[in-house]
Amino acid sequence: MTAKKTPTSKEVAKATFDLLEERGVTVLDIAEIVYDLQLPYHPTLTIQECAESVERVLQKREIQHALLVGIELDKLAEQNKLSEPLQSIVEQDEGLFGVDETIALGAVLTYGSIAVTTFGYLDKVKVGIIEKLDCKKEKGVNTFLDDLVASVASSAASRLAHRQRDEQEQLQEGNPAT
Ligand code: MG
Repeated sequence: MTAKKTPTSKEVAKATFDLLEERGVTVLDIAEIVYDLQLPYHPTLTIQECAESVERVLQKREIQHALLVGIELDKLAEQNKLSEPLQSIVEQDEGLFGVDETIALGAVLTYGSIAVTTFGYLDKVKVGIIEKLDCKKEKGVNTFLDDLVASVASSAASRLAHRQRDEQEQLQEGNPAT
């Protein structure tokens, strides 16, 4: 086997954004979840700030790798290309299969405890695009994608929470936020 060139960060980032688009998930869809999560703590928050936070999270390699792995498995299951019994487990989103959550949870760890607890919350309440993906089961397989979207949303929400505190402290110290 000839050695392949390592994909560049740009290529991996582009593949991630392309895959999300292919699977019908937009940055705005995820930003809307972040907005609802953070608005109670941040009354002046805008959807634009949430979208920027989602974009920043999607630039993280840990998140990109998780999305690439999970979406690939969803697509292979849709094409009936996985081996049994994994094919049936992923296709049916079997209740005791937790690898989708485990991969998504692993990806949020860089964003700390707020991201982890928010991820647990989203896994239970399934709002916005997460709920839509969950309901689209008849049309395709999104076993991994719903958890991965929750992972991006909770990371973006945690990122905003930390930034807001930094900005408040900078204001109190009389220094403009950077
Ligand atoms: Mg799932």
